Amino acid sequence: MAEPFLDGETVAFPEAERLAVRNPADDSLIDSVPEGGAPAVDAAVESAQRAFGAWRDTPAARRGEILAAAAHHVLQQRDELAALLTREQGKPLREAALEITRFVHTLEHYAGLAKNIRGGYVPDLDVGAYGMIVRRPLGVIAAIVPWNFPTTLLGNKLGPALICGNTLVAKPAETTPLTTLRIAALMHEAGLPKGVFNVITGSGPATGQLLATHPQVRKVAFTGSTPVGKRLAALVADDLKRMTLELGGSDPLIVCDDADLEAAASAASVGRFFNCGQACLATKRLFVFDSVADAFIAKLVAKVERLRIGPGIAERVTTGPLHTARGRALIEAQVADALASGAELLVGGRRPEGPGLDQGYFYQPTLLLEPKPTARVACEEVFGPVLPIWRVKDLDEAIARANDSPFGLGSAIWTHDLARASFAAEHLQAGYTWVNSVNRVYDELPFGGWKQSGYGKEHGSEALDFYLETKAVVMKWR
Ligand code: NAP
Ligand code: MG
Repeated sequence: MAEPFLDGETVAFPEAERLAVRNPADDSLIDSVPEGGAPAVDAAVESAQRAFGAWRDTPAARRGEILAAAAHHVLQQRDELAALLTREQGKPLREAALEITRFVHTLEHYAGLAKNIRGGYVPDLDVGAYGMIVRRPLGVIAAIVPWNFPTTLLGNKLGPALICGNTLVAKPAETTPLTTLRIAALMHEAGLPKGVFNVITGSGPATGQLLATHPQVRKVAFTGSTPVGKRLAALVADDLKRMTLELGGSDPLIVCDDADLEAAASAASVGRFFNCGQACLATKRLFVFDSVADAFIAKLVAKVERLRIGPGIAERVTTGPLHTARGRALIEAQVADALASGAELLVGGRRPEGPGLDQGYFYQPTLLLEPKPTARVACEEVFGPVLPIWRVKDLDEAIARANDSPFGLGSAIWTHDLARASFAAEHLQAGYTWVNSVNRVYDELPFGGWKQSGYGKEHGSEALDFYLETKAVVMKWR
């Protein structure tokens, strides 16, 4: 039975209620974790608080070396970690291995930035005075992470937090705690000091909320849904805690009439259906110019029909199960609503049948043409393998409709026309715009939503700003 990782070791909570961890591919029980509640939250935050002083005072370059060594050790166990991630999350093994690699690369990226944390100097501030801009870590960071990318979304917080001298308590989703617990143990094996990175287990409303509102937590780094993000923002406002919110999205992809339709169709298929459609920055709404719509849709349908559904552990599977039965029920309700609104079903639209598919939470990759703009798939985030497609007459209409959303996470356009690409890059209301590509997030560039997709940035050197306080110092020497 898995247990929280606190103060450099695994700590059992025998009194606590147990939460089941199930395999989405066949609904079997894999393991269980305790609902940590106040005892685990208090122990973890105290551990992180105790470790903070020495970690803050460790030279930044040394923090970088330690983080790099820990990341390297994780990478060496990639196969074992990927198999565990596939079991608890459901994604194909190939995607799980990629996810672990991305986690490691993000830690390495921040380890590399350790020597580059900079403040400022202002000469001749006054007679016999200069100014300095000093940057200090915050203290204990709470990282609350969802189940769709349990490790990369943790790494986006862990890397900058630790390199800046903070310590961290992570609360993974109750359905995907196992890979995170294993990673914490591995990083400590490789020399991460105890208490610097702690992992507690439990549900969001019970354990996560206690962590976020704990008086010694100085910042909440949250990735998850917009409703929960709003609720947490309101709760932590009381103490004016620092916060970054990486929330839901409904990313548009615009396919222009000059686009390479073959490449655009591949991108739409990968962009919508990787991780079984359960990505914040997945392609969730597609707008295609009317004059090429039929040709484009034919290519996309052919690609979607070739996707191979099955358990993530099986070879050559491209589309695993949805992560939970509840998630699948929501997708089914959103598709039913779209069809009732008059959408045409192009492909998919139901649960697949076949050997090995009856117990898992599988759903066919689905394309819907022209749901009403008021349909749920147009207005809500669709967190599964369903892509609604609309025809548009031109770029102005495409951008207006793309922006007609409460979300503003990512966006994409397929065109070779420089004017169109530039116009879209400046006018799509989103934290990322891909031109002739989709979904790939780079450590080098800041990532974070506009509008109700959140605030604050992860990735890039920009992320460091969200793990440091800035102080002005006046040095009067005469
Ligand atoms: P969620 O329900 O908001 O859960 C996210 C995390 O918050 C989980 O660890 C959850 O714990 C915890 N949580 C839930 N209620 C809480 C509360 N009252 N207090 C404290 N913590 C609480 O999100 P989800 O639906 O599982 O995840 C998918 C969502 O995440 C989508 O909307 C997706 O777009 C978004 N997302 C955004 C990004 C981004 O970078 N912008 C990246 C990935 C995903 P339990 O699950 O254990 O209850
Ligand atoms: Mg949830």
